[in-house]
Amino acid sequence: MAKRKTAAKDTAIFAQPTPARAGVTGSCPRCGEGKLFAGLLAPAKACANCQMDFGFIDSGDGPAVFVILIIGFVITGLAMVVEVNYSPPIWVHMVLWTPAIIGLSIWALRVCKGIMIALQYQAGASEGEIAASDQDPT
Ligand SMILES: [Zn+2]
Repeated sequence: MAKRKTAAKDTAIFAQPTPARAGVTGSCPRCGEGKLFAGLLAPAKACANCQMDFGFIDSGDGPAVFVILIIGFVITGLAMVVEVNYSPPIWVHMVLWTPAIIGLSIWALRVCKGIMIALQYQAGASEGEIAASDQDPT
């Protein structure tokens, strides 16, 4: 099994951005200059500025949970306010909230993913491994 590259062994010195700044700007968690994302939500293979390999990135389902809870709360609240105050037909809700849900969710996913990747990098977090033991238990 190939050893995973972890951020904890990184010895390069850069002015590290805060996780919030790295997440909002979608920048490299190490140098804050290169782009973290190659597309809309897919992480790049490496930083174009500091050449850090992004192979350690594994944000899992964490960002999606925050986005579902936060955007769901906001949109549901706004839809309730509009319904109670104006009682519009259902198509108005669909026209208002469908693009808002899609747009806000993609934006929030990108920001949350950037924040969680920066936190993962700064904490040196990686997938759990069973510690090697000198004694064979069998
Ligand atoms: Zn970088």
